[in-house]
Order: sequence, then C-alpha cells, then structure tokens
Amino acid sequence: MDDDLLTDDLLTQDHKRLREYGTALLGAWRAYQEEQPVVPDLGDVLADAAKAVADKEQRELRAQLEQARSIAVGLENEAARLRDLVADFTDPDPCHYDHHGYCQAHFWFQTEPACPHRRARELEGGAS
Ligand SMILES: [Zn+2]
Repeated sequence: MDDDLLTDDLLTQDHKRLREYGTALLGAWRAYQEEQPVVPDLGDVLADAAKAVADKEQRELRAQLEQARSIAVGLENEAARLRDLVADFTDPDPCHYDHHGYCQAHFWFQTEPACPHRRARELEGGAS
C-alpha cells in the first residue's frame, strides 16, 4: 500500500484535530450536564404520584366515613326519640278484635294495616 499522502505530518495534524474535537465535545457535554436540572428517576416519580393519589383517596374516604358515622349517630338518636314517642302514645291495654278482625278496643276498623297499638307493641318487641 502506498502511503505517500499519509505523511507523519498529516497524521499528526489529524490526530491533533481529533483531540481538539474530542476536548470540545467533552466541554460541551460537561456544560450541558451543568445546565440540566437533576432528572429524577421515572420509577420514583411514578411511585410518588401513586402514593400522593393513595393518600388523597385515603383522606377522602376517612372524611366520608366520619360523615357517615355522624349521620348514623343522628339517625340512631332520632329513632330512639321516635320509639320513646310511640311507646308514650301506645295504649297498654290489649286489642280486642270483633268477627271482622277490627280492633274494637282502639276503634280501628280495618285489618290491613293492623291496629296501630298492636304494631306499636310489636315494634317495642312486646306481645301483640
Ligand atoms: Zn287495638
């Protein structure tokens, strides 16, 4: 192979040029790295986002549960007041049914629904 054109001088010049080019690239790369913000790991970003969503959902569920508990307590109190009221209204005397099934004791002239005093005693768990 004839290396007439690739003299030592030319090789040295190319090598020198390549070295300068490499140094420039390295400098540019370092400058680029210094200018870039720290890029977080995508897995960490996704994990943080998932945790934030889960925390938010948990807070919302806790708030809804607390609201439901508050409503349940209110309903229990209201039911207790109504049961007390029904108990006070209920005639302790037993029903007396005629041959039609009407309650003569409480002047209730239908069979369905049954005499309200009977239903009230059933509500209290007492005898009908
Ligand atoms: Zn009755």
